[in-house]
Amino acid sequence: MIKLLSTDDALLMQSAKSEFDALGIPYLVKNEFAGGAVGEIPWIEACPELWLVDVSWLSRATMVISSLNDTLSDNDFAEWHCTVCEEKNGAAFDFCWQCETAKPN
Ligand SMILES: [Zn+2]
Repeated sequence: MIKLLSTDDALLMQSAKSEFDALGIPYLVKNEFAGGAVGEIPWIEACPELWLVDVSWLSRATMVISSLNDTLSDNDFAEWHCTVCEEKNGAAFDFCWQCETAKPN
């Protein structure tokens, strides 16, 4: 088996699982319900992991993961760069914290 993904991003994990289900890619999730155990074991070990059961699916599975990463990082929650001063701003801000230029659409 090969570990494809280790993330505490529930949305990413859920999206990956449903894509894999749809494509018939055999996978296994570890630590999925480890959330309640945080505090007893180091956080990184409690992080949910997505494992590929059959390595013959590796290239397909890798493509799915990388396209999901692109999709999810390209949404409203992504950080944005100010068009005027190039400063990086958090997704929650509608104006550049440095020069107060409005967030571009
Ligand atoms: Zn700015």
